[in-house]
Amino acid sequence: MERVLDRVRAGEDDHKCRDCGGILKSDTISFGQQLVPEVIDRAMHAAGEADLFLAVGTSLQVYPIAGAFDLARAAGARTVIMNAQPTPFDDIADAVLPGSISELLPRLVTDPESASRSLN
Ligand SMILES: [Zn+2]
Repeated sequence: MERVLDRVRAGEDDHKCRDCGGILKSDTISFGQQLVPEVIDRAMHAAGEADLFLAVGTSLQVYPIAGAFDLARAAGARTVIMNAQPTPFDDIADAVLPGSISELLPRLVTDPESASRSLN
């Protein structure tokens, strides 16, 4: 996989799977695919220890991962939801940043002070 990623970074087009012709992807789960239990366990554990929980680009409607929001909130984390559509947790989040994550997320990364002011 690393060799394929290097070639794509160097400018080649995305590679297709040699067996089925489908897209190659390194480490994501698509709808209908089996979740990796160890990864979910790690995510839930991290949510329960977080000071700040960012839900980015998710409707927070698919469990088990939507439950990470409640876990983090119950453990005292401040919660921020960044999504184009409303979520069932918007009313109880510390901040909701509605809009396109491709516009909002870079702002949060490059100008965190401005973004944090909107959390107060
Ligand atoms: Zn394949």
